Amino acid sequence: MKYLDEYRDPDLAQRLFAEIRRITTRPWAIMEVCGGQTHSIIRNGIDQLLPEAIELIHGPGCPVCVTPLEIIDKALAIASRPNVIFCSFGDMLRVPGSAKDLFRVKSEGGDVRVVYSPLDAVRLAQQHPDREVVFFGIGFETTAPANAMAVLQAHRLGLRNFSMLVSHVLVPPAISAIMESPTNRVQGFLAAGHVCSVMGTWQYRPLVERYHVPIVVTGFEPLDVLEGIRRVVLQLEAGRAELDNAYERAVRPEGNVAAQQVLSEVFEVTDRAWRGIGVIPQSGWRLRNAYRAYDAEARFAVGDIQTRESPICRSGEVLQGMLKPNQCPAFGKECTPRTPLGATMVSSEGACAAYYQYGRFIKAEEVGVAR
Ligand code: SF4
Repeated sequence: MKYLDEYRDPDLAQRLFAEIRRITTRPWAIMEVCGGQTHSIIRNGIDQLLPEAIELIHGPGCPVCVTPLEIIDKALAIASRPNVIFCSFGDMLRVPGSAKDLFRVKSEGGDVRVVYSPLDAVRLAQQHPDREVVFFGIGFETTAPANAMAVLQAHRLGLRNFSMLVSHVLVPPAISAIMESPTNRVQGFLAAGHVCSVMGTWQYRPLVERYHVPIVVTGFEPLDVLEGIRRVVLQLEAGRAELDNAYERAVRPEGNVAAQQVLSEVFEVTDRAWRGIGVIPQSGWRLRNAYRAYDAEARFAVGDIQTRESPICRSGEVLQGMLKPNQCPAFGKECTPRTPLGATMVSSEGACAAYYQYGRFIKAEEVGVAR
């Protein structure tokens, strides 16, 4: 398939593996920020084929996984209201809240609908003027422009029965939090190409300079990931810390300026809690005052939520790269994709789901490698 097959070529992959082996002289710990990259790495066995000296640490870049439990519980409370049509992308329906998930709300009679675009929810609001239509607007910088557009569209149409439960998160503050953590082991980053296609690469230069850490923007196919790793290792071995774009076919330094304008029209930066990690200052977006009328949290007054995490789920450690999923005692036992205890076992971008889907049931230490 055009634009995919050429980035999955096994001969080129072998050459890149050989080149990475040739240039690696010391141990390095590299974090892939995005859950899509994590799945590509595990699906293709990239981590197992790299030199032992290179450890890939899976980052917190799964949007479903980091959506705070409090927001999930608010979604459940809103979706349970009798007059509400609650719209979400499908991957949020099985994310466990404190007591249940959106599928359970649906089975109990809640009108929960899977949509493929936030504009579908706007359309539903037009079609059902007597119902409250709520869209669950979560995700990183990638999904945010479409959500911002939906709010603008509802505003232009004068819809009073449309609102959005917003929990957007931002990558650069998460990288800062990782680098400032006392337990940090990350020495270089693979940045997520789709985020940078929206926001550009300029936001990452201050991080490179402040933390003297290489950041290479890359994509999601095996050759993209390998080329990103190669470029990070080249920098680390040479003692350099630079911003590098290995995904030029999709990412321009300035990003998508039109999308950024829509984002800054609708959203403003705010502190945001990340599930399993805690509050990261200035790490999310919320609706600006001019669009606060579309804020579902305010509209439905769901402020007094008491959350309760699974006492045995260790997804917080997984999301911070402190624990591999198969090092969690519940992995594949109490916790499976059919019986998930944490969001990282649910999402198509979650590290626990990737390890389960691709059969990583053996702990790293049992096979004698530190990864
Ligand atoms: S395997 Fe399950 S219980 Fe363990 S960290 Fe992952 S989601 Fe949580």
